[in-house]
Amino acid sequence: MMKKQYQVAIVGAGPSAIFAALTLSKGRMKDLVIFEKGKDIHERKRGRGMELLCGWGGAGAFSDGKLTLSPKVGGFLGDFIPQSQLVNLLRKADEIYLSFGAPKEVFGQSSDKTEALYQEAKLAGLEFIPMEIRHLGTENCVPLLKKIRNALEKKVDVLFNTPVKEILVENGKIKGVWLENGTRVNADYVICGPGRVGAQWIKNEVQRLGIPSIPSPVDIGVRVEAPASILQKLTDIAYEAKFIYYSKTFDDKVRTFCMNPFGEVVTETIDEIVTVNGHSYANKKTENTNFAILVSNTFTEPFNDPIGYGKYIARLANFLGNGVIIQRLGDLLDGRRSTPDRINRCITQPTLISATPGDLSFVLPYRHLKSIIEMLEALDRITPGIFSRHTLLYGVEVKFYTNRVKISPALETDIQNLFLIGDGAGITRGLMQASISGILAGDEILRRIGNE
Ligand SMILES: Cc1cc2nc3c(=O)[nH]c(=O)nc-3n(C[C@H](O)[C@H](O)[C@H](O)COP(=O)(O)OP(=O)(O)OC[C@H]3O[C@@H](n4cnc5c(N)ncnc54)[C@H](O)[C@@H]3O)c2cc1C
Repeated sequence: MMKKQYQVAIVGAGPSAIFAALTLSKGRMKDLVIFEKGKDIHERKRGRGMELLCGWGGAGAFSDGKLTLSPKVGGFLGDFIPQSQLVNLLRKADEIYLSFGAPKEVFGQSSDKTEALYQEAKLAGLEFIPMEIRHLGTENCVPLLKKIRNALEKKVDVLFNTPVKEILVENGKIKGVWLENGTRVNADYVICGPGRVGAQWIKNEVQRLGIPSIPSPVDIGVRVEAPASILQKLTDIAYEAKFIYYSKTFDDKVRTFCMNPFGEVVTETIDEIVTVNGHSYANKKTENTNFAILVSNTFTEPFNDPIGYGKYIARLANFLGNGVIIQRLGDLLDGRRSTPDRINRCITQPTLISATPGDLSFVLPYRHLKSIIEMLEALDRITPGIFSRHTLLYGVEVKFYTNRVKISPALETDIQNLFLIGDGAGITRGLMQASISGILAGDEILRRIGNE
């Protein structure tokens, strides 16, 4: 039964929110409620759109489950707290994942091979970011999340299918939330972790409440797929090979993202826009490896809607391709579209068969295409074969992040006792940092409750 008054209310039940709840439930907190617009973990099924992203575990439930243990990736928490604190929190979050059944093995530990790759990448004009990863695998995320759900069962009220409509602020003070069903719930502290799926909602709320923010970059690019053997040199050394490249023509930051050895390319639907993503299973392998190449841009005045821009481009791909477009790199370079016949003849056979063969040059701006091609050329110097006519490109992959709200190192906004955590607030970009952001907010609230 839901009460009318709680000490702490959390919006969302993704990793950021779950870790906030785990932290709070260990302290002297009176009562805590979580409002989640999706379903409970036992009822969730891997689907599209809301099904994929909403419910207990948020986008983490059907994610690839790669826990990145390096402070350099997965978000911007390093801009808010000292590196040493971030490293300690990474260790803490990792221990929590381990206690709920994450596998012990860690990939990508530093070695002579990673050092050699680092030097080789430099010669190719690339920065290699060494990274340690604990890989849950898609199939292990749900069981792990069920265990956490059970552990919190008696300590926390969790209301599913209950979207929060508004954050309630009166006279500059946080008062609770309004639910979409018209109910007002009072709370002394509110933590919002709405994720990327709730980025637009939180953007609107932040604007409505007059909380200052700065524009975030928008990352637009493609998912690249090639035979796993071509990328095996990289994936054997670094489980998730991350490279940064500054494009020759535009000096834009271009990066590889989310490499899935022997994985598959999938679609993702946000607000009826179909974009592309990728994942891999711990025990099921395809012949291909996929990864994203994303070009990062931050707009300057007067434009202030990077999310709108990203969506516009993704919509264009959907408009032309009736969903996601696939093109051979050779066809793109030759200035012609891919056709079903050309894809059939391709040495790399696509793992996402629903993609429409087409022409990405009708979709992506020259700036992005040029940067992507330049980065593939640079990558070819360390992984010969990636700049092949048979490499497949799927478009588009877009990562939108809410304008970064002005927040304190404890992730509190200008409104006292209102905290923003996770991907939705534009401060994290992955499971680990999202989880840590929940710990940060939870710890701060416990400290205050202890002093009350
Ligand atoms: C296919 C896929 C694969 C991924 N693979 C990896 C990976 O291998 N490694 C990695 O580190 N990261 C991965 N990620 C990213 C990772 O899942 C996210 O970074 C992480 O889940 C962010 O956590 P979060 O709590 O901020 O938000 P989310 O997990 O997005 O959760 C937000 C929750 O809030 C709810 N919500 C939103 N608005 C409201 C509202 N108004 N009222 C009530 N509830 C609301 C949503 O329903 C959702 O359940 C992947 C993501 C996807 C989609």
